This record gives sequence, structure tokens and C-alpha cells, in this order.
Amino acid sequence: MAQHAEGFFDNRERFRDADMATRAVRVGLDPDKETGSVVPPIYQTSTYVQDGIGHGRHGYEYGRMSNPTRDALQVSLASLENGAAALSFSSGLAAEDALLRTLLKPGDTVVSGNDVYGGTHRLIAKIWGEWGVHSVETDLSDVDLARGVIEEAQPRVVWIETPTNPMMQISDVAALAEIAHQSGALVVVDNTFASPVLQQPISLGADFVVHSTTKYLGGHSDVVGGAVVLATDEYEDRLWFSQYALGAISSPFDCWLTLRGIKTLGVRVQRHSENAQQLAEWLSSHPKIEQAFYPGLPSHPGHDVAAKQMHGGFGGMVSVAVAGGEQAARTFAESTKLFVLGESLGGVESLINYPSEMTHASVKGTPLAVPLNVVRLSVGIEGVDDLQADLSQALDQI
Ligand SMILES: *Cc1c(COP(=O)(O)O)cnc(C)c1O
Repeated sequence: MAQHAEGFFDNRERFRDADMATRAVRVGLDPDKETGSVVPPIYQTSTYVQDGIGHGRHGYEYGRMSNPTRDALQVSLASLENGAAALSFSSGLAAEDALLRTLLKPGDTVVSGNDVYGGTHRLIAKIWGEWGVHSVETDLSDVDLARGVIEEAQPRVVWIETPTNPMMQISDVAALAEIAHQSGALVVVDNTFASPVLQQPISLGADFVVHSTTKYLGGHSDVVGGAVVLATDEYEDRLWFSQYALGAISSPFDCWLTLRGIKTLGVRVQRHSENAQQLAEWLSSHPKIEQAFYPGLPSHPGHDVAAKQMHGGFGGMVSVAVAGGEQAARTFAESTKLFVLGESLGGVESLINYPSEMTHASVKGTPLAVPLNVVRLSVGIEGVDDLQADLSQALDQI
């Protein structure tokens, strides 16, 4: 059986020392060898001609097993995260599930942050719980607390998200990776919020990076996808087997859209961060805002750690606690004209979200519940003055 055939598109070596922005535009994206087409085609096919029985070309046999457009995306993702390899899936959760299936067996424990992405918590606790996997949630932004919990739980996996959603807590990846490795655990970092432009968890000690490529990597709110990046090739064959045997692959067109988005990742994330920084500073002193949660604010409890492990900005996500409680927060979220009321994040257009009834409705009433006066902003790349004017008029409606 052929392995994945990414060698055909793998130009990573040529860009090994290149800037992140260069790699985003060029890795996996050499002009088509046959026609010279500068943009590689979408290989919209389910199968490949064999020149003799068992002799596919460049290792391509069947679409679930491998596809050239998917290979191009996978080498791009591996390059951006400084990993040995990457595998692409039909959604972020499909990527997470394939990774957990590869690493866990009944009786194993996963330690995760207590404000991890709701879908991740649901997957580990509700789906994997049924198969004998234990879930332990703790505050991973507190290294000393985390050390005690990890040493006691002896987990197979420590699952880190930083910044977290929606409270923007920061965890020290390097410190947690050291603690986890001392206990024999593997470290997974969900790097969806920061993107590889701002934070490279593998260089901080992570064994795996997962992404919802639906968010900043795709970047245009037009495709759902996910990925796992591996620090070394140790688990590559097993994870590739999971991708192939479970079948939650991303389609050729979805891979192509994601690659198209990735080309502008550098400039987009820079602009998202600049806009978010300005809005967070302005919101933090607005009379109708009780508190702004943004790691780029010096008053944020995780600011120093974020400044150490993030480079070039603090991302596009800002949350606020609205003075006046639940009703004031709901009115704010429903009164913007430019910010679109909707779930998801990371697209070029600004979104506003009321977590406790929208993205985080599944954890309402649990210890993971989001305060009722919190509103989350995914700050887009529009003109920042327009965004600020929109938030200002919406706050005036309260
Ligand atoms: C959206 C998201 C996911 C899940 O990804 P899907 O593509 O929606 O399956 C996982 N982690 C984080 C941080 C997310 O924001």
C-alpha cells in the first residue's frame, strides 16, 4: 500500500530558511509542471490511472488515500508550523478525533485546560469518555497548579489552548511541555487562535499542533477544515493510517481554498492583531465596559507569558465583560451594524458573538460556563476607525 505521496509537491527544503510570509505564499505551490500554470490545479478526482497492476504514478492510487491538492496543503502546513509532517482533515474536530484515536487507549487520561474549546471538551468527555478515557480539566494558565494535577493524573496527553476561547487566558507552553514530558505525557497545542504567524508551539516543546483551518488559516469564512502537525515523524505512519482508515479527509476543493487563504496569512494576521490591539485599548477604558480580555494589554494577567511566546502581535480575538450584566451584553451584541452577529472566527470580516447562548451554549450551567455579560469579538481586517465607530454606536444603545 502506498504511503501519502507528498514528495511530489514537497519544496520545503528550498524554503527551509525563508520567512514565514514567504513560506505561506510558496511552499507546496510550485507552478504546475505540465502546463506552467502558476496556481496549481484542483485535482478533483477520486482515482488515478495505474500503468500496470499496483503501479500508480507518484504513489497516487485512490482519493481517500492521497490527493495532490491535499498533499500541497499538508506540506504548506508542516512548513508553517516547523513540523516534520502535517495531515489535513474535513474539520478541526475530525483532526482532533483522528489524533486522539491514534494516541489513546481505554484507561488513558487527558488533562486539558478548563476553558478549552467547547467542542474539544465535548469530544474528550462525551465521546471518548464512553470508551474509557478519563478527562481532567484544570486551569493550565497556573503552572504550579498544573504541575500538581499532571503529576497526579499521569495523563497520556496534555491538551493546551492558548490564548483560550473566549476568556483569552494564556498558558506557558514551554513550561507545561517540560512538566508533561517529565510525566511521560505527550503535548498537543491547539494553535487555532494564534496561528503559526504569531506562535509556533513545536519550537516551544509541543509534540503535536492541531488547527481548525476553518479560522485564520482559511481566513475567509468559506471553508471548514482541520489539521494535525507532527513535531517528528514518530507517529506519522500511525496518524496517516488513521486519516486513511477513518476517512475524515478534506476534499480537494476545500484544500485548495485553504491554500488560497494561507497565501495571505502573514498580512492578514498582522492586520487582525493591529486592529484588535487598538480596539482592546479603547474598549478597556470605555465606561460601558467592565473589563477587556486581550493578551496585548499590559494589565492582562498573561501578558508577560504571551509577550514571551507570541511574536509580532497578540491576535485578532478580544472579549469584553459589559458593565450592566446580561441584558446590556445582549443589547451590545445585537446592535452592531458592521460586526456580523455570528459564530466562528478568524475571517476577514469582523464577527460579534454572545458565547453563553452561541458558541458556548453546550457548557451553560457547568463549571466551564462563560459569564453572562461576556461578548466575544473576532476583529477583522476592515478599517479600524469604522470598526471602532460601530462598537461605539452599539455601546450607546445600552
Ligand atoms: C473552531 C475551533 C475548533 C473546531 O474546529 P472545526 O473546524 O469547527 O471542527 C477547535 N479549536 C478551536 C480553538 C476552534 O476555534
